[in-house]
Amino acid sequence: MRLANRVSRLGQETAFEVLAKAKKLEAEGKKIVHLEIGEPDFDTPRNIREAAKKAIDKGWTHYGPSGGLPQLKEAIVSYIERTRHLKYDPDQVVVMPGGKPVMYFLIHALVNEGDEVIYPNPGFPIYESVINFVGAKPVPIQIKEEKEFNLDVSDLEKLLSPKTKLLILNSPQNPCGGVLSLKELEKIADLLKKYPDVMVMSDEIYSEILYEGKHHSIAALDGMKDRTIILDGYSKTFAMTGWRLGYAVCPKDIAPSMVKLMNNSVSCTASFTQIAGIEALNGPWDDVKKMVAEFKTRRDVIVEGLNKIPGFTCRKPNGAFYVFPNIKKTGVSSKDMADMLLYEGGVACLSGASFGAFGEGYIRFSYANSVENIKIALDSIKKLSHKWAK
Ligand code: PLP
Repeated sequence: MRLANRVSRLGQETAFEVLAKAKKLEAEGKKIVHLEIGEPDFDTPRNIREAAKKAIDKGWTHYGPSGGLPQLKEAIVSYIERTRHLKYDPDQVVVMPGGKPVMYFLIHALVNEGDEVIYPNPGFPIYESVINFVGAKPVPIQIKEEKEFNLDVSDLEKLLSPKTKLLILNSPQNPCGGVLSLKELEKIADLLKKYPDVMVMSDEIYSEILYEGKHHSIAALDGMKDRTIILDGYSKTFAMTGWRLGYAVCPKDIAPSMVKLMNNSVSCTASFTQIAGIEALNGPWDDVKKMVAEFKTRRDVIVEGLNKIPGFTCRKPNGAFYVFPNIKKTGVSSKDMADMLLYEGGVACLSGASFGAFGEGYIRFSYANSVENIKIALDSIKKLSHKWAK
């Protein structure tokens, strides 16, 4: 075998596989409604695009510092202060090409072989993949429908052990849309007092895509700032998935290793993208507000429609742009349902099981598509429902 053993331990995001299957069907002339991939269907706001074009013309086309441009790190520090009421030094911010590299580099920087990492399941598949890749032990914590798609703090208490190195939290959550309340975060922070060596990666990439209430970061709670790494980025908030721009906000002793990993891999994040990132944070937020309002309308349409489909029940999530209907009453497995909806209904979605074993019995729809297309998808699913309805 030519490949190193560790490569066989890597998983992947199935959204990209399903997208490829759906594109193939489209190339064969089939009509497909795309509810699989997790990216806003909106254009990046004009002011951000203009800022990038100007930055290219002004020569922001060279290498920059591995940890990010100082001007952007300043803008991120003040954004975090505005939104989380936390003060950081700009050197605690490490800019990266997306939020995904934050999880990849952080797990490499913190976790030794044999350490345990607790992570949400169903959850973003890359957590488990990278935990396995570094030879650590993935310890899934169930995200429970009956807890409004949140983790149960009493489960966490059972899973924490002297070997636990890292706890991954994600709120608002992919794939379920659950949002951790301040009260729950306080319970988690309280419990972690008994485990002072456990670090937390708080994936807050959907923090601005919230429909009611206010986003809370565990980093802002008593004793947590020095043990929490905030993962955030531009992909979802500003519809900038293809730009590749994200960042980690780290305790002081962790940031230099993250910068070293950047230096050893991609060197730096594209300079003109970073300049546009300053405009995104400091310029007008009207387009973001409009996008979130539109997502809320779509959420209401898809939740109402899914609840009318025999065998489906769907909670109304408070954040992100996903719904995670329970399909257990249909008697069809998640994978078979996702395949049936794609190949027979022309609706691309993801099997809940592709987000971990606890996702079996569910499917995920991303409602980053127009109300018109969501309605077409709902009609198509309804037409197929005779196949499972008794
Ligand atoms: N975290 C979660 C929970 C996500 O769903 C995603 C993308 O889907 C990311 C992080 C990474 O986003 P990006 O690398 O595009 O910034």
